[in-house]
Amino acid sequence: MEKIRRNILRIEIPLPRNPLKALNAYFLAGDDRNLLIDTGFNQAECRQAMDQAMEEIGFSMENTDIFITHCHSDHAGLAGYLAKPETRIYTGDYTARDISRQFDWFEDFGILVQQGGLLDMDLDQNPINHPGYRYRTDKVDFNQVTVVADGTIINVGDYSLKCVHTTGHAPDHICLYEENHKILFCGDHILETITPNNNIWETPWDIKVDYLDEYLKSLTKVEALAIDLILPAHRGHGFDCYRRIQELREHHERRLNNVLDILGNKTMTAAQVASKMDWDLDIKDWDQYPKAQKIFATGEALSHLSHLVCKGVLRKELRDGVVYYFR
Ligand SMILES: [Zn+2]
Ligand SMILES: [Zn+2]
Repeated sequence: MEKIRRNILRIEIPLPRNPLKALNAYFLAGDDRNLLIDTGFNQAECRQAMDQAMEEIGFSMENTDIFITHCHSDHAGLAGYLAKPETRIYTGDYTARDISRQFDWFEDFGILVQQGGLLDMDLDQNPINHPGYRYRTDKVDFNQVTVVADGTIINVGDYSLKCVHTTGHAPDHICLYEENHKILFCGDHILETITPNNNIWETPWDIKVDYLDEYLKSLTKVEALAIDLILPAHRGHGFDCYRRIQELREHHERRLNNVLDILGNKTMTAAQVASKMDWDLDIKDWDQYPKAQKIFATGEALSHLSHLVCKGVLRKELRDGVVYYFR
């Protein structure tokens, strides 16, 4: 646990056997109600860490609300476990419907695996290989959820938190901006030493949204804010977010060129492209990658390939249920 500012604590929730290592949840102490920003996986180690933090800080969920920056299970995973009947859960529209099981993204998981070309890469269509599925939240009662709009203000003690929609990393990612103190709780939108994973949220053949484009626009949106302190959901905080935004832009520019180089004049699946991209993992051989990492890598390749299709640089075709990309 770390004291960040008056009435703001960082709670480190371990994410065992996950390259992200830990989640930064933030606890804001209010006058009558507190706010907990993000929660951790629905996994024993995360539940224990959160229970222990609750005991040490001395708060209970009866007078604490939850803000979920986005639907990923390392953020939303403990919402169902933690929420008491008095708890209000603030989040975006997509996450609200997701955690209350109004739809199930994982119903299309098998199609994504097949269309992405992962069936040839030792993967099957069972979502159990995906940590987002394995550690997702217990079903949350939709009546406990408040869907926040872009610009919605949540007041906690001295802090006035403005919701800033920053779609891209997830379909409804939301940052919280405290204008008077120039603090941004940025979820996974901007991270210091890791590049936020970009993925797609529809099946590769039917995708309508350019999620990478949305992400880049959301970086520009945050760049326009006056920020003295950035508080991300993973790893270190307090870095120069403006420099980091520029680095992230350059990273995606390099990635797009890398994808085009890998494709050359060939016709390839997203998984084939992903297997040749550079990944910042200790394991260097694609065949040795854990299944979950193959899924994330292919998702990242898909977001770049789909972006290039949207820009008219690439074309795609569907053959035997698999999507192929070519110039
Ligand atoms: Zn995330
Ligand atoms: Zn995360």
